[in-house]
Amino acid sequence: MTAALIDSLDWTKGDGLLPVIVQHAHDGRVLMLGYTNRDALALTLETREVHFWSRSKQRLWRKGETSGDVLALVSIAADCDHDTLLCQAIPAGSTCHRGTESCFDGASPAHPWLNELEALIAARDGQDPSSSYVAKLLAAKPSRRAQKVGEEGVEVALAAVAGDRDELRGEAADLLFHLLVVLRGAKMTLADVVGELAARHRTL
Ligand SMILES: [Zn+2]
Repeated sequence: MTAALIDSLDWTKGDGLLPVIVQHAHDGRVLMLGYTNRDALALTLETREVHFWSRSKQRLWRKGETSGDVLALVSIAADCDHDTLLCQAIPAGSTCHRGTESCFDGASPAHPWLNELEALIAARDGQDPSSSYVAKLLAAKPSRRAQKVGEEGVEVALAAVAGDRDELRGEAADLLFHLLVVLRGAKMTLADVVGELAARHRTL
């Protein structure tokens, strides 16, 4: 597999180097662009940690070798011309040397509104329960949040059975919303769940 991917790429155009776009495996944000050669790609595939060829230092570079901010490889694939790679990875810390998560300012996740909603729910946590519905749910016992997610799950199921698309859309939105509240109550994030899905995908 490793050799097959490496040999399938067009290394001639870039004098033995190919650009690699690194994307966050959980939310689709573009994190950075680097360059790889045959050795760096082989090391990436073997170690499951992203390696590059540093054009400035003219040597192999394991991302995070000094900072500890490694990129754990999830998947890597070539584009249509086999001369650019798209790498999905999970960063251990900040990817950029400036300390930001992405080298690209304004890089947005694939589902920005869902992430924004999660942040809004987190901001309500600990606020006066009478101030909002979310604050009230988060201040309640876990069983209250569990009940809500259970009810919404049943409503999604009923709408799906009835074949009512408008109803299904609305109930699915309610379920996602209450699922985010349940996760927040358990001090978990959407990224934890997406990470679990991505890990399963690797073994499908
Ligand atoms: Zn950077």
